[in-house]
Amino acid sequence: MSDSAAARADVVIIGAGVAGLWLAHRLQRLHRSVVLLEAHAVGSGQTAVSQGIIHGGTKYALTNALTGASEIIRPMPARWKAALSGRGEIDLGGAVILSPRQHLFSTAALTSRMSHFFAGRVMLSRVRTLPRAQHPSLLAHDAFRGSVSEIDEIVLDVPSLTTVLADNLRRPVLHVRGESLRLEAPREGGEHASVIAQSAGEGGGRRVCLEAAAVVCAAGSGNAALLAQAGVEASAAQKRPLHMVLVRGALEHPIWAHCLGAGSRPRLTITSHDWADPARRVWYLGGEIAETGVGRTRLEQIAAARDELADVLPWARLDGLEWDAFPIDRAEGAEKSGHRPDGPTLLRHGRILFAWPTKLALAPLLADMIITHLEAMGAHAPEADLAALDGWPRPPCALPPWKEDRQWHTFDR
Ligand SMILES: Cc1cc2nc3c(=O)[nH]c(=O)nc-3n(C[C@H](O)[C@H](O)[C@H](O)COP(=O)(O)OP(=O)(O)OC[C@H]3O[C@@H](n4cnc5c(N)ncnc54)[C@H](O)[C@@H]3O)c2cc1C
Repeated sequence: MSDSAAARADVVIIGAGVAGLWLAHRLQRLHRSVVLLEAHAVGSGQTAVSQGIIHGGTKYALTNALTGASEIIRPMPARWKAALSGRGEIDLGGAVILSPRQHLFSTAALTSRMSHFFAGRVMLSRVRTLPRAQHPSLLAHDAFRGSVSEIDEIVLDVPSLTTVLADNLRRPVLHVRGESLRLEAPREGGEHASVIAQSAGEGGGRRVCLEAAAVVCAAGSGNAALLAQAGVEASAAQKRPLHMVLVRGALEHPIWAHCLGAGSRPRLTITSHDWADPARRVWYLGGEIAETGVGRTRLEQIAAARDELADVLPWARLDGLEWDAFPIDRAEGAEKSGHRPDGPTLLRHGRILFAWPTKLALAPLLADMIITHLEAMGAHAPEADLAALDGWPRPPCALPPWKEDRQWHTFDR
């Protein structure tokens, strides 16, 4: 190892997923000196595989009740829209909106029609039932016998989001070797925490000791190892697995929709991507199929998803398509029940904060919570000095799952 250097910042953030990136932008606007460290690629944990839906809570109110989760997330779409228009708390100008709205649809089965009805009643202000002439093209087919509503929740192109967030930071994200990162809590009454990091990728081998008035761990599933380093019980974090499905090929209709079933969760959540390439369009499938498919093998999950699509959209042409499925964990702050926390989770351990947004859409709220803590802690480094970080290698941006090297599966005709 060659260089060894020292630097001092107000705040060091570990993890350049949506949580770390959003916070870095907020702190930049507050004129704080911020260093953001990333071990892999920008957005490479959950952010890059997310479906990009900026939820406003409708999905959580399918049981005909306004839950804590639906109320906490409700203000988020307006905050994202303001940021996307360049008039918000951060500037997301340049990030691409894939769809300005989402649809909720139910099949003709009685139970799912009822769910749809309840969703409409509880959420009257948020859900607009559409006449047939206004159905999205996929659901305009004569064979469709269910009903369709529209909700005012945007869907983002996540690669453009992470690119804009990374590129618009005044000080670029630093590429570090995750396994070499060392967190050091301050001694009793000490005024700074330290992070020792080594550079990764091209230009690897540099070493720096970063002192900061606060360190924020926003490393998704990587927070578990950081909790252990700080001596905090690993049980403060939880993982909830999913088995997501990708379908690629000459798909005719784009759709961004939740298909409602009998239960309180959408049976299927479909988002559409890469629509400009007619031969390689993608439907990305989540919802209940991803939750119940956790114990299935990859091929079983692909087969289950194809059956589910054929059941819900019997007129859709599914032959000649390529399929894949992959497991991924949602990393969250722990809940006693093991269920999804209603909102973001923030845990403070001296000058180190551990943060999980719970949802991409909740990144603005998590940033508020962190900033409140930083202000209470007086997280200002008296003499910020980041010169030692000049020329440090930058991480690439993560690819979305359909652009990664995959072994696509096709069914024999
Ligand atoms: C399949 C799926 C679909 C989803 N869809 C949606 C959706 O449509 N809408 C929504 O609101 N939410 C969605 N979510 C939830 C959402 O994606 C997450 O809540 C959010 O992305 C978490 O962001 P994060 O920044 O906390 O973590 P992550 O995105 O996981 O980022 C953590 C970052 O930290 C880095 N890292 C890890 N360890 C270290 C280390 N030691 N040093 C440095 N860096 C480190 C990782 O490489 C990564 O880049 C979805 C989640 C999944 C899994």
